Amino acid sequence: MPSKNTMNGFAVFMYEIKERRRLNMSGQQLATFCSPLWANLSAGEKKQYDMRAKEMKAQKKATDGDMARRDNVGNIIGTRKNPEEERRKRRQTDQELVTRDWPGKDLMDEKFYFVNFQDMCELSEPDNNTDREWLPREVAIVEYTMRRGIIRIYHAFIDPGPIPKGFRFTCMQKSDAEHKIPIEDFELASNNYPLIWRKMKELLRDGMKDGQDADYEKIKYLMDWMWCRSDDGDLSDNPAGHVCALEDLVVNLLAYSNQPNTETISNASVVSRLDGSHWDYISNTSCEWHEDQETKYCALGIVRRYAFTISDILSQVYPINLTERHVPIRSSTEEVARVLPPESMPTVSNQQRMRGKTRAKEKPGSAGDMRRVSG
Ligand SMILES: [Zn+2]
Repeated sequence: MPSKNTMNGFAVFMYEIKERRRLNMSGQQLATFCSPLWANLSAGEKKQYDMRAKEMKAQKKATDGDMARRDNVGNIIGTRKNPEEERRKRRQTDQELVTRDWPGKDLMDEKFYFVNFQDMCELSEPDNNTDREWLPREVAIVEYTMRRGIIRIYHAFIDPGPIPKGFRFTCMQKSDAEHKIPIEDFELASNNYPLIWRKMKELLRDGMKDGQDADYEKIKYLMDWMWCRSDDGDLSDNPAGHVCALEDLVVNLLAYSNQPNTETISNASVVSRLDGSHWDYISNTSCEWHEDQETKYCALGIVRRYAFTISDILSQVYPINLTERHVPIRSSTEEVARVLPPESMPTVSNQQRMRGKTRAKEKPGSAGDMRRVSG
């Protein structure tokens, strides 16, 4: 995969050099001319060309329709063995990196970072043959330990630049159905990527290895998206190198607790708890802007709810003294759920993850799978 991406980025680079220097060369001559220049670029610069190549590909796909798609899929099938298998392995490796130094350690003070991005839209076809790509709109990170609960937060709206041709309608639909953030002229969004990235890194620096979310592929991709627009450091600089899926983290933490019965808890039951609506209607969870919107799709609200759910699950097996930094203190009036319009229901991608579970079935206060199994 890296060599293929490099070739794509290299092609963009060659074209740029050719235009800038007004070179009149054959393809082979141009490649020979550009090779040493390319070799001199930093990893971050190369990555930037790779990302531009991907974006151009997505645009081409949108404008050319079927023809380009056939080409694209054909190429990829031709060069890759089994992308699904590759993804599974990558995820397994990341999980191992995160848990590597756990044995013998008191995990109560281990720092974890829960990350969520709300996106404008997905640029790739959601099939198994391509690397998936998104345009970011909002990011939130919470720093969390089991002992202290939520320690610090970071939140920002992102201006990802012009919407690629052919994606405007998808972006509008997604905004209406989920996060409600205007797709253009949103004064709270910033395109100062180096600043956003620096703030993200400041928060992530202490841990540098654990950003977690159930949307594993998306986090990995968008952390790279921010990184390659902001830094020209080497690849190991990117904390996204150690993103671990949230459900994997929870299952591992339960296993490490050495409490009886925890080994029977499946990823699926953890996912269903994380996707549950238990904390959806608690006030002061979303960012200030989203607090006035009738939607639960706020990046900050989502990472905070992850912290609540995880505290709730892990307090069954770890000596966590639950405070309001772990779970919200709710008044009895807040338990009366606000009624959301039907558009706020999850769209296709989320429904897949939820495996058809109906949100309405889960009542506030229901114990869920985990508590029964471990308690
Ligand atoms: Zn928000």
